[in-house]
Amino acid sequence: MDKVRIGTCWLDGCSGCHMSLLDIDEGIVAVLRKADIVFGPLVDAQEWPEGVDVALVEGAVSSQDDLKLAQTLRSRSKIVVALGDCAVTGNVPSMRNGIPRRVLLERIYVEGATTCPGVPTDGVPALLKQAEPLHSAIKVDVHVPGCPPKPNAILMVLTDLLEGREPDLGSKLRFG
Ligand code: SF4
Repeated sequence: MDKVRIGTCWLDGCSGCHMSLLDIDEGIVAVLRKADIVFGPLVDAQEWPEGVDVALVEGAVSSQDDLKLAQTLRSRSKIVVALGDCAVTGNVPSMRNGIPRRVLLERIYVEGATTCPGVPTDGVPALLKQAEPLHSAIKVDVHVPGCPPKPNAILMVLTDLLEGREPDLGSKLRFG
């Protein structure tokens, strides 16, 4: 039987949701019996591949690069999971939303600089006007809240998806 293909990525997130994913500990063995991880921080792939079954997405959509990756993974994945509060609600990244981008960038790169003040223009993805939850940019199939989500909630969602069930987080839901 073909294994399920899982991809993971983080957009505007702190990697804490991926740390929680790693915290499923020995649960990863059961997951990897049924699935291959084909994209993510531990996989040497440069581009989101075609034919992904389950996409786990950490972080809000804050930059043009985030938006492009979100749209690409949506078009190449069957099930998209918003992993963690930043992906589900915008959470920490959206705290900048009340500040105009120009003011924000100058505060950081000019007023906050100790050397070479100046807003970079090369090699830095352009910020979107607002940091938005994933569902504002693309269709999301499953939301897993938490900052980060509990490892057992992530494992339960993965187990359900690998066995073809619709995840029901029920009492394992946690915001914040
Ligand atoms: S939800 Fe929390 S742990 Fe996850 S990326 Fe956002 S701030 Fe980090």
